[in-house]
Amino acid sequence: MDFYSLNKKAPNVSFKEAVIQGIAPDKGLYFPESITPLPKSFFENIETLSNEEIAFTAIHQFVNADIPDGELRKIIKNVLDFDFPVVEIEDQIATLELFHGPTMAFKDVGARFMAQCLGYFSGNESNEVTVLVATSGDTGGAVANGFLGVEGVKVVILYPSGKVSDIQERQLTTLGRNITALEVDGTFDDCQKMVKTAFLDEGLLQKMQLTSANSINVARWLPQLFYFLIAYKQIKSKGKELVFSVPSGNFGNICAGMVAQRLGMPVDHFIAATNVNDTVPEFMQSGEYNPKPSSATISNAMDVGDPSNFIRIRHLHHDDFDKLKENLSSFPFTDEETRKAMLHIYKTSQYIADPHGAVGYLGLQKYLKDHPETYGVFLETAHPVKFLDVVEDTIGHTLELPPQIKKVMGKEKSSIKIGTYEELKSYLLKRE
Ligand SMILES: *Cc1c(COP(=O)(O)O)cnc(C)c1O
Repeated sequence: MDFYSLNKKAPNVSFKEAVIQGIAPDKGLYFPESITPLPKSFFENIETLSNEEIAFTAIHQFVNADIPDGELRKIIKNVLDFDFPVVEIEDQIATLELFHGPTMAFKDVGARFMAQCLGYFSGNESNEVTVLVATSGDTGGAVANGFLGVEGVKVVILYPSGKVSDIQERQLTTLGRNITALEVDGTFDDCQKMVKTAFLDEGLLQKMQLTSANSINVARWLPQLFYFLIAYKQIKSKGKELVFSVPSGNFGNICAGMVAQRLGMPVDHFIAATNVNDTVPEFMQSGEYNPKPSSATISNAMDVGDPSNFIRIRHLHHDDFDKLKENLSSFPFTDEETRKAMLHIYKTSQYIADPHGAVGYLGLQKYLKDHPETYGVFLETAHPVKFLDVVEDTIGHTLELPPQIKKVMGKEKSSIKIGTYEELKSYLLKRE
């Protein structure tokens, strides 16, 4: 299996090269050359398979020979060591809970998978890899946790000082070992700009192997297709047409769901639910893609004005707008609507949704109005405690802290303060 660049001006590479490089030399995203459907019997018997078996069968063709089967099975076993339950909260509406991992956000699976692949690849090389990542909150914690203790890989995380929640900051800054948190005097956009500058800095790149850990990396993006297959295994017996509603920011998760569909999973339609950052909903109306600066919302992991993976979705539908419309609907929702939905879900189903899940619920509800015969699943991408203030304030109820969170609350924060790109660069070079 080879991966090609969507900009079509760079050579094809193997899975290993795509993971190590992150982005192609022509700045295009990597995309698999082919997606071979799995045998019908796989889906007919899926309820008899373990999550690990499902994941191994689904990802094998993309990893190919770059990781031996036994090693790949070991990686998957480590990655999927928690539950992904589907919980029905209303007639024909269920939620897929993706927050039972170590940092309680769905990014745990992608971050762990990428970390273990990179660890395997760098184990065979003498060069150390440095993972550089900017975070507005959730990504950093999942990446830090996923890479903790992985040999041959160092992780440097940039986060905006004072702009992430207390829980998120502790998840980033208390691990130590091969993880360093750089606390940037600035905004998330400033952090991201510094990271982008580093990736274009030839002087730096000559001295070190830098890679990114966001969802443009195929090892973070593709394993998200496990969620959809694991959900399908649980709801197949409903016997209805099936739709997924995915709260979307950079559109990596939903795009992975569409890859699961290409593998042959019977799913009727996808709904991309967003907050007021509505670049994609607008595109689905007008056919015109107009990226814009992001606006801050209560579902802040989706505050993205130019979603990086949407190009993969368009490509998957051969850049055919009508084909895309058959498979995808996209609706935006305001913070006020989101809070109302959280309260409604709590009052009618005694279920506590986080703001991202609530946006997914709203998207599903809107779609089901015109498609009453469908069974819908919305993805719960974060545990409600990660957005403690908003959730408690909205539903008027105090939340219990789960053990994963209690564990980090007692730990001492350790970070290095920086303010400029020059400081980032000299920090990176000093460590060489
Ligand atoms: C990252 C994130 C999202 C958005 O996922 P994408 O794959 O970027 O669309 C949604 N919810 C939460 C909680 C997240 O952390």
